[in-house]
Amino acid sequence: MDKRVIQRRMRQKRRQLLIRKITKLVFCAVAAVLLVVFVVKGIIGPITGKLGGKEEGTTQEVQAKTQEADPSAAIRQPIKGEADAGKLSSTSVGWQEDENGKWYQNADGSYYAGGMAEIDGSTYGFDENGYLESGWATYGSQDYYFNDDGTLDPQKQRPMIALTFDDGPGEYTNRLLDCLEEYGAHATFFMLGQNVGNYPDAPKRMQEIGCELGNHSWSHPQLTTLGLDQVSEQFEKTNQALEDACGSPATVARTPYGAQDDSILSAVGLPCFMWSTDSLDWKLLDAQADIDSIMNDETLGDGSIILMHDIHEPSVDAAIELIPMLIDQGYKLVTVSELAEAKGVSLEAGKSYSDFWPSTIESLTGSSSEDDYTEEDYTEDEGDGEVYEDYVESTSNEEAEEINSTDDSSGEDYQENPDSEE
Ligand code: ZN
Repeated sequence: MDKRVIQRRMRQKRRQLLIRKITKLVFCAVAAVLLVVFVVKGIIGPITGKLGGKEEGTTQEVQAKTQEADPSAAIRQPIKGEADAGKLSSTSVGWQEDENGKWYQNADGSYYAGGMAEIDGSTYGFDENGYLESGWATYGSQDYYFNDDGTLDPQKQRPMIALTFDDGPGEYTNRLLDCLEEYGAHATFFMLGQNVGNYPDAPKRMQEIGCELGNHSWSHPQLTTLGLDQVSEQFEKTNQALEDACGSPATVARTPYGAQDDSILSAVGLPCFMWSTDSLDWKLLDAQADIDSIMNDETLGDGSIILMHDIHEPSVDAAIELIPMLIDQGYKLVTVSELAEAKGVSLEAGKSYSDFWPSTIESLTGSSSEDDYTEEDYTEDEGDGEVYEDYVESTSNEEAEEINSTDDSSGEDYQENPDSEE
Protein backbone atom coordinates (compact mmCIF):
# COMPACT_ATOMS: atom_id res chain seq x y z
CA MET A 1 0.00 0.00 0.00
CA ASP A 2 1.12 3.48 -0.74
CA LYS A 3 2.58 5.23 2.27
CA ARG A 4 0.53 8.35 1.57
CA VAL A 5 -2.67 6.42 1.47
CA ILE A 6 -1.83 4.85 4.82
CA GLN A 7 -1.05 8.26 6.31
CA ARG A 8 -4.34 9.69 4.96
CA ARG A 9 -6.30 6.79 6.42
CA MET A 10 -4.56 7.19 9.76
CA ARG A 11 -5.39 10.91 9.75
CA GLN A 12 -9.03 10.09 8.90
CA LYS A 13 -9.12 7.52 11.69
CA ARG A 14 -7.69 10.02 14.19
CA ARG A 15 -10.23 12.62 13.10
CA GLN A 16 -13.06 10.13 13.48
CA LEU A 17 -11.79 9.19 16.93
CA LEU A 18 -11.56 12.89 17.86
CA ILE A 19 -15.10 13.57 16.61
CA ARG A 20 -16.38 10.57 18.57
CA LYS A 21 -14.58 11.78 21.66
CA ILE A 22 -16.00 15.31 21.28
CA THR A 23 -19.50 13.94 20.68
CA LYS A 24 -19.20 11.78 23.79
CA LEU A 25 -17.98 14.73 25.80
CA VAL A 26 -20.86 16.93 24.59
CA PHE A 27 -23.35 14.19 25.44
CA CYS A 28 -21.82 13.78 28.86
CA ALA A 29 -21.84 17.50 29.43
CA VAL A 30 -25.51 17.82 28.39
CA ALA A 31 -26.43 14.85 30.53
CA ALA A 32 -24.56 16.32 33.47
CA VAL A 33 -26.27 19.69 33.04
CA LEU A 34 -29.69 18.05 32.79
CA LEU A 35 -28.95 15.94 35.83
CA VAL A 36 -27.88 19.01 37.79
CA VAL A 37 -31.02 20.88 36.71
CA PHE A 38 -33.29 17.99 37.72
CA VAL A 39 -31.56 17.47 41.01
CA VAL A 40 -31.54 21.16 41.89
CA LYS A 41 -35.16 21.68 40.88
CA GLY A 42 -36.61 18.52 42.25
CA ILE A 43 -34.66 17.68 45.33
CA ILE A 44 -32.13 20.29 46.33
CA GLY A 45 -34.26 23.27 45.25
CA PRO A 46 -36.81 23.07 48.03
CA ILE A 47 -34.03 22.54 50.55
CA THR A 48 -31.87 25.44 49.36
CA GLY A 49 -35.05 27.48 49.11
CA LYS A 50 -35.64 26.73 52.78
CA LEU A 51 -32.12 27.68 53.74
CA GLY A 52 -31.75 30.72 51.54
CA GLY A 53 -35.18 32.16 52.12
CA LYS A 54 -35.65 32.42 48.38
CA GLU A 55 -39.05 31.87 46.84
CA GLU A 56 -39.58 30.48 43.43
CA GLY A 57 -41.04 32.90 40.93
CA THR A 58 -43.54 30.46 39.55
CA THR A 59 -44.81 29.57 43.02
CA GLN A 60 -45.35 33.23 43.74
CA GLU A 61 -47.29 33.64 40.53
CA VAL A 62 -49.51 30.74 41.43
CA GLN A 63 -49.92 32.19 44.90
CA ALA A 64 -50.88 35.57 43.51
CA LYS A 65 -53.50 33.98 41.26
CA THR A 66 -54.89 31.89 44.10
CA GLN A 67 -55.06 34.95 46.33
CA GLU A 68 -56.85 36.93 43.65
CA ALA A 69 -59.44 34.24 43.08
CA ASP A 70 -60.28 33.65 46.74
CA PRO A 71 -58.88 35.85 49.50
CA SER A 72 -59.71 33.18 52.06
CA ALA A 73 -57.68 30.42 50.35
CA ALA A 74 -54.34 29.52 51.90
CA ILE A 75 -51.23 30.01 49.85
CA ARG A 76 -48.63 27.27 49.41
CA GLN A 77 -45.69 28.88 51.07
CA PRO A 78 -42.27 27.41 50.25
CA ILE A 79 -40.37 26.81 53.44
CA LYS A 80 -37.98 29.69 54.04
CA GLY A 81 -34.98 30.46 56.22
CA GLU A 82 -34.62 31.46 59.86
CA ALA A 83 -38.30 32.20 60.51
CA ASP A 84 -39.13 28.66 59.48
CA ALA A 85 -36.36 27.05 61.50
CA GLY A 86 -38.90 24.84 63.24
CA LYS A 87 -40.28 23.61 59.94
CA LEU A 88 -36.87 22.81 58.45
CA SER A 89 -36.26 19.81 60.63
CA SER A 90 -39.23 18.00 59.13
CA THR A 91 -39.14 16.48 55.70
CA SER A 92 -42.22 14.28 55.72
CA VAL A 93 -45.52 15.19 54.09
CA GLY A 94 -48.62 15.84 56.22
CA TRP A 95 -49.39 17.32 59.64
CA GLN A 96 -46.37 18.54 61.57
CA GLU A 97 -46.03 20.07 65.00
CA ASP A 98 -43.41 22.22 66.64
CA GLU A 99 -43.27 24.52 69.65
CA ASN A 100 -45.33 27.16 67.79
CA GLY A 101 -48.18 24.85 66.85
CA LYS A 102 -49.40 22.56 64.11
CA TRP A 103 -48.73 23.07 60.40
CA TYR A 104 -49.14 21.09 57.23
CA GLN A 105 -46.39 20.14 54.81
CA ASN A 106 -47.37 19.55 51.19
CA ALA A 107 -45.70 17.05 48.88
CA ASP A 108 -43.95 19.90 47.03
CA GLY A 109 -42.21 20.99 50.21
CA SER A 110 -44.49 24.01 50.77
CA TYR A 111 -46.81 24.65 53.70
CA TYR A 112 -50.23 26.33 53.88
CA ALA A 113 -50.34 29.90 55.19
CA GLY A 114 -52.60 32.94 55.48
CA GLY A 115 -55.91 31.32 54.65
CA MET A 116 -57.99 28.18 54.49
CA ALA A 117 -57.24 24.83 52.88
CA GLU A 118 -59.17 21.60 52.66
CA ILE A 119 -57.28 18.60 53.98
CA ASP A 120 -58.81 15.13 54.16
CA GLY A 121 -62.33 16.54 53.74
CA SER A 122 -62.10 19.18 56.49
CA THR A 123 -61.40 22.89 56.15
CA TYR A 124 -58.61 24.33 58.25
CA GLY A 125 -57.29 27.86 58.67
CA PHE A 126 -53.62 28.79 58.75
CA ASP A 127 -52.09 32.00 60.04
CA GLU A 128 -49.47 34.06 58.22
CA ASN A 129 -46.71 31.82 59.55
CA GLY A 130 -48.51 28.67 58.52
CA TYR A 131 -49.74 27.59 61.94
CA LEU A 132 -53.19 26.14 62.47
CA GLU A 133 -55.77 28.63 63.74
CA SER A 134 -58.37 28.15 66.43
CA GLY A 135 -61.05 30.68 67.40
CA TRP A 136 -61.73 33.66 65.13
CA ALA A 137 -59.53 34.42 62.14
CA THR A 138 -59.93 37.01 59.38
CA TYR A 139 -59.12 36.27 55.73
CA GLY A 140 -59.83 39.00 53.21
CA SER A 141 -62.62 40.93 54.90
CA GLN A 142 -64.40 37.85 56.23
CA ASP A 143 -64.22 36.25 59.66
CA TYR A 144 -64.16 32.51 60.19
CA TYR A 145 -64.41 30.42 63.34
CA PHE A 146 -62.17 27.40 63.86
CA ASN A 147 -62.89 24.80 66.53
CA ASP A 148 -60.23 23.65 69.00
CA ASP A 149 -59.22 20.87 66.60
CA GLY A 150 -58.72 23.50 63.89
CA THR A 151 -61.73 22.59 61.73
CA LEU A 152 -63.93 25.39 60.36
CA ASP A 153 -67.33 25.98 61.91
CA PRO A 154 -69.20 27.45 58.92
CA GLN A 155 -72.29 28.24 61.01
CA LYS A 156 -70.67 30.69 63.40
CA GLN A 157 -71.13 34.39 62.63
CA ARG A 158 -68.74 36.73 64.35
CA PRO A 159 -70.55 39.15 66.67
CA MET A 160 -69.69 42.78 66.03
CA ILE A 161 -69.87 45.95 68.06
CA ALA A 162 -69.35 49.55 66.98
CA LEU A 163 -67.55 51.76 69.48
CA THR A 164 -68.31 55.44 68.91
CA PHE A 165 -66.57 58.43 70.45
CA ASP A 166 -68.15 61.88 70.45
CA ASP A 167 -67.15 65.50 70.88
CA GLY A 168 -63.43 65.17 70.03
CA PRO A 169 -60.83 65.18 68.86
CA GLY A 170 -59.19 66.01 72.16
CA GLU A 171 -55.97 65.66 74.07
CA TYR A 172 -56.57 61.97 74.86
CA THR A 173 -57.67 60.90 71.38
CA ASN A 174 -54.21 59.86 70.26
CA ARG A 175 -53.82 57.42 73.18
CA LEU A 176 -57.09 55.84 72.18
CA LEU A 177 -55.93 55.58 68.56
CA ASP A 178 -52.74 53.83 69.77
CA CYS A 179 -54.87 51.21 71.47
CA LEU A 180 -57.22 50.74 68.51
CA GLU A 181 -54.22 50.34 66.23
CA GLU A 182 -52.54 47.84 68.56
CA TYR A 183 -55.60 45.59 68.54
CA GLY A 184 -56.56 46.14 64.91
CA ALA A 185 -59.88 47.49 66.18
CA HIS A 186 -61.93 50.14 64.36
CA ALA A 187 -64.12 52.84 65.88
CA THR A 188 -66.16 55.81 64.69
CA PHE A 189 -65.32 59.32 65.84
CA PHE A 190 -68.18 61.84 65.76
CA MET A 191 -66.14 65.02 65.87
CA LEU A 192 -66.92 68.64 66.47
CA GLY A 193 -65.69 70.89 63.70
CA GLN A 194 -64.46 73.47 66.19
CA ASN A 195 -62.09 70.89 67.74
CA VAL A 196 -60.64 69.54 64.50
CA GLY A 197 -58.37 72.55 63.99
CA ASN A 198 -56.81 71.97 67.43
CA TYR A 199 -55.87 68.38 66.58
CA PRO A 200 -55.41 68.48 62.81
CA ASP A 201 -53.43 65.20 62.71
CA ALA A 202 -56.16 63.17 64.40
CA PRO A 203 -58.58 62.67 61.46
CA LYS A 204 -55.77 61.52 59.17
CA ARG A 205 -54.52 59.00 61.69
CA MET A 206 -58.08 57.76 62.27
CA GLN A 207 -58.39 57.06 58.55
CA GLU A 208 -55.01 55.38 58.38
CA ILE A 209 -55.91 52.84 61.04
CA GLY A 210 -59.33 52.07 59.59
CA CYS A 211 -61.50 54.26 61.81
CA GLU A 212 -64.43 56.22 60.43
CA LEU A 213 -64.86 59.99 60.39
CA GLY A 214 -68.15 61.18 61.80
CA ASN A 215 -69.62 64.67 61.87
CA HIS A 216 -71.14 65.81 65.18
CA SER A 217 -71.83 69.44 64.14
CA TRP A 218 -69.51 72.40 64.51
CA SER A 219 -70.27 73.55 68.06
CA HIS A 220 -72.71 71.02 69.58
CA PRO A 221 -75.90 73.06 69.54
CA GLN A 222 -79.28 71.49 70.14
CA LEU A 223 -80.33 71.34 66.51
CA THR A 224 -84.05 71.51 67.27
CA THR A 225 -83.53 75.13 68.31
CA LEU A 226 -81.89 76.08 65.01
CA GLY A 227 -83.22 76.86 61.57
CA LEU A 228 -82.53 74.20 58.95
CA ASP A 229 -80.05 76.47 57.19
CA GLN A 230 -78.09 76.75 60.40
CA VAL A 231 -78.23 72.99 60.83
CA SER A 232 -76.78 72.49 57.36
CA GLU A 233 -74.11 75.06 58.07
CA GLN A 234 -73.07 73.28 61.29
CA PHE A 235 -72.39 70.08 59.34
CA GLU A 236 -70.97 71.64 56.19
CA LYS A 237 -68.43 73.67 58.16
CA THR A 238 -67.32 70.58 60.05
CA ASN A 239 -66.96 68.60 56.84
CA GLN A 240 -64.82 71.41 55.46
CA ALA A 241 -62.61 71.30 58.57
CA LEU A 242 -62.21 67.53 58.15
CA GLU A 243 -61.39 67.92 54.48
CA ASP A 244 -58.80 70.55 55.34
CA ALA A 245 -57.29 68.21 57.93
CA CYS A 246 -57.21 64.94 56.02
CA GLY A 247 -58.68 65.41 52.57
CA SER A 248 -62.00 63.66 53.26
CA PRO A 249 -65.31 64.74 54.76
CA ALA A 250 -67.26 62.65 57.26
CA THR A 251 -69.16 59.65 55.95
CA VAL A 252 -71.64 59.53 58.84
CA ALA A 253 -73.09 61.94 61.40
CA ARG A 254 -74.56 62.12 64.87
CA THR A 255 -76.76 64.94 66.07
CA PRO A 256 -75.80 66.52 69.44
CA TYR A 257 -77.90 64.98 72.25
CA GLY A 258 -79.54 62.82 69.59
CA ALA A 259 -82.02 65.65 69.17
CA GLN A 260 -83.35 65.28 65.66
CA ASP A 261 -86.38 64.95 63.43
CA ASP A 262 -86.89 64.15 59.76
CA SER A 263 -86.17 67.65 58.50
CA ILE A 264 -83.04 67.93 60.63
CA LEU A 265 -81.84 64.54 59.38
CA SER A 266 -82.38 65.72 55.80
CA ALA A 267 -80.50 68.95 56.47
CA VAL A 268 -77.57 67.00 57.93
CA GLY A 269 -77.38 65.12 54.66
CA LEU A 270 -75.59 62.00 55.93
CA PRO A 271 -76.64 58.69 57.48
CA CYS A 272 -77.14 59.54 61.18
CA PHE A 273 -76.39 57.36 64.15
CA MET A 274 -77.89 57.15 67.60
CA TRP A 275 -76.62 54.46 69.98
CA SER A 276 -77.86 51.39 71.82
CA THR A 277 -75.52 51.42 74.84
CA ASP A 278 -74.96 54.75 76.56
CA SER A 279 -71.89 54.53 78.79
CA LEU A 280 -72.93 57.76 80.57
CA ASP A 281 -69.19 58.34 80.74
CA TRP A 282 -69.60 62.15 80.69
CA LYS A 283 -71.49 61.85 83.97
CA LEU A 284 -69.56 59.00 85.63
CA LEU A 285 -66.07 60.32 84.84
CA ASP A 286 -64.61 57.13 86.28
CA ALA A 287 -62.99 54.47 84.12
CA GLN A 288 -64.19 51.46 86.12
CA ALA A 289 -67.72 52.84 86.35
CA ASP A 290 -67.71 53.38 82.57
CA ILE A 291 -66.58 49.80 81.98
CA ASP A 292 -69.23 48.45 84.37
CA SER A 293 -72.02 50.47 82.82
CA ILE A 294 -71.16 49.12 79.38
CA MET A 295 -70.46 45.50 80.30
CA ASN A 296 -73.57 45.32 82.53
CA ASP A 297 -75.86 46.51 79.77
CA GLU A 298 -78.06 43.51 79.12
CA THR A 299 -78.72 44.60 75.56
CA LEU A 300 -75.00 44.62 74.69
CA GLY A 301 -74.36 42.16 71.90
CA ASP A 302 -73.97 41.62 68.19
CA GLY A 303 -74.99 44.82 66.40
CA SER A 304 -74.72 47.16 69.39
CA ILE A 305 -73.47 50.73 69.08
CA ILE A 306 -71.70 52.04 72.19
CA LEU A 307 -71.58 55.75 72.98
CA MET A 308 -68.50 57.22 74.69
CA HIS A 309 -66.63 60.54 74.63
CA ASP A 310 -62.91 60.69 73.89
CA ILE A 311 -62.61 64.20 75.40
CA HIS A 312 -62.68 62.73 78.93
CA GLU A 313 -59.56 61.01 80.27
CA PRO A 314 -61.44 58.35 82.29
CA SER A 315 -63.43 57.48 79.15
CA VAL A 316 -60.25 56.89 77.19
CA ASP A 317 -58.80 54.88 80.10
CA ALA A 318 -61.99 52.82 80.11
CA ALA A 319 -61.91 52.30 76.35
CA ILE A 320 -58.31 51.11 76.51
CA GLU A 321 -59.42 48.37 78.91
CA LEU A 322 -62.67 47.66 77.10
CA ILE A 323 -61.16 47.13 73.67
CA PRO A 324 -59.16 43.96 74.55
CA MET A 325 -62.00 42.86 76.86
CA LEU A 326 -64.60 42.91 74.09
CA ILE A 327 -62.21 41.26 71.64
CA ASP A 328 -61.59 38.52 74.21
CA GLN A 329 -65.34 37.95 74.35
CA GLY A 330 -65.26 37.26 70.61
CA TYR A 331 -66.47 40.63 69.34
CA LYS A 332 -65.03 42.26 66.29
CA LEU A 333 -64.82 46.02 66.80
CA VAL A 334 -65.91 47.81 63.65
CA THR A 335 -67.03 51.22 62.44
CA VAL A 336 -70.74 51.96 62.13
CA SER A 337 -70.54 51.69 58.33
CA GLU A 338 -68.69 48.38 58.55
CA LEU A 339 -71.33 47.14 60.97
CA ALA A 340 -74.13 48.15 58.61
CA GLU A 341 -72.39 46.52 55.66
CA ALA A 342 -71.75 43.31 57.56
CA LYS A 343 -75.46 43.15 58.41
CA GLY A 344 -76.52 43.83 54.84
CA VAL A 345 -77.93 47.30 55.53
CA SER A 346 -77.42 50.01 52.90
CA LEU A 347 -77.05 53.27 54.75
CA GLU A 348 -79.05 56.23 53.47
CA ALA A 349 -78.53 59.92 54.00
CA GLY A 350 -81.32 61.49 56.05
CA LYS A 351 -82.04 58.27 57.95
CA SER A 352 -81.17 57.42 61.53
CA TYR A 353 -79.83 54.15 62.90
CA SER A 354 -79.34 53.20 66.53
CA ASP A 355 -78.36 49.54 66.40
CA PHE A 356 -78.00 46.62 64.00
CA TRP A 357 -79.41 43.93 66.25
CA PRO A 358 -80.88 40.91 64.46
CA SER A 359 -84.33 42.09 65.57
CA THR A 360 -83.78 45.50 63.96
CA ILE A 361 -82.16 44.41 60.73
CA GLU A 362 -85.34 42.96 59.29
CA SER A 363 -86.98 46.37 59.36
CA LEU A 364 -83.85 48.06 58.02
CA THR A 365 -83.36 45.74 55.07
CA GLY A 366 -87.01 44.99 54.34
CA SER A 367 -89.34 47.22 52.38
CA SER A 368 -90.87 48.46 55.60
CA SER A 369 -91.38 52.21 55.75
CA GLU A 370 -90.51 52.32 59.43
CA ASP A 371 -86.81 52.86 59.72
CA ASP A 372 -86.17 52.50 63.41
CA TYR A 373 -87.47 53.59 66.73
CA THR A 374 -85.93 57.03 66.38
CA GLU A 375 -88.16 58.14 63.60
CA GLU A 376 -91.22 56.41 64.98
CA ASP A 377 -90.82 57.80 68.45
CA TYR A 378 -89.76 61.28 67.58
CA THR A 379 -91.32 62.11 64.34
CA GLU A 380 -94.85 61.02 65.00
CA ASP A 381 -95.03 63.55 67.80
CA GLU A 382 -93.93 66.28 65.45
CA GLY A 383 -96.20 69.17 64.77
CA ASP A 384 -95.01 72.16 66.70
CA GLY A 385 -91.32 71.86 66.05
CA GLU A 386 -90.62 70.99 69.70
CA VAL A 387 -89.67 67.46 68.83
CA TYR A 388 -86.80 67.26 71.26
CA GLU A 389 -89.05 68.11 74.21
CA ASP A 390 -91.64 65.66 72.98
CA TYR A 391 -88.95 63.03 72.99
CA VAL A 392 -88.06 63.81 76.59
CA GLU A 393 -91.71 63.64 77.59
CA SER A 394 -92.47 60.53 75.61
CA THR A 395 -89.63 58.44 77.00
CA SER A 396 -89.39 56.95 80.44
CA ASN A 397 -88.45 59.18 83.36
CA GLU A 398 -85.07 57.58 83.54
CA GLU A 399 -84.27 58.29 79.93
CA ALA A 400 -85.66 61.77 80.20
CA GLU A 401 -83.43 62.40 83.17
CA GLU A 402 -80.43 61.21 81.21
CA ILE A 403 -81.18 63.53 78.38
CA ASN A 404 -81.75 66.47 80.65
CA SER A 405 -78.51 65.66 82.44
CA THR A 406 -76.72 65.45 79.14
CA ASP A 407 -78.13 68.85 78.43
CA ASP A 408 -76.79 70.15 81.74
CA SER A 409 -73.40 68.68 81.14
CA SER A 410 -73.22 70.36 77.83
CA GLY A 411 -72.88 73.68 79.55
CA GLU A 412 -69.86 72.43 81.44
CA ASP A 413 -68.30 70.66 78.52
CA TYR A 414 -68.63 73.37 76.01
CA GLN A 415 -67.98 76.54 77.88
CA GLU A 416 -64.32 75.74 77.35
CA ASN A 417 -64.90 75.87 73.65
CA PRO A 418 -66.95 79.02 73.35
CA ASP A 419 -68.80 79.10 70.11
CA SER A 420 -68.24 82.31 68.28
CA GLU A 421 -71.39 81.82 66.31
CA GLU A 422 -73.84 81.67 69.14
ZN1 ZN B 1 -71.92 65.21 71.81
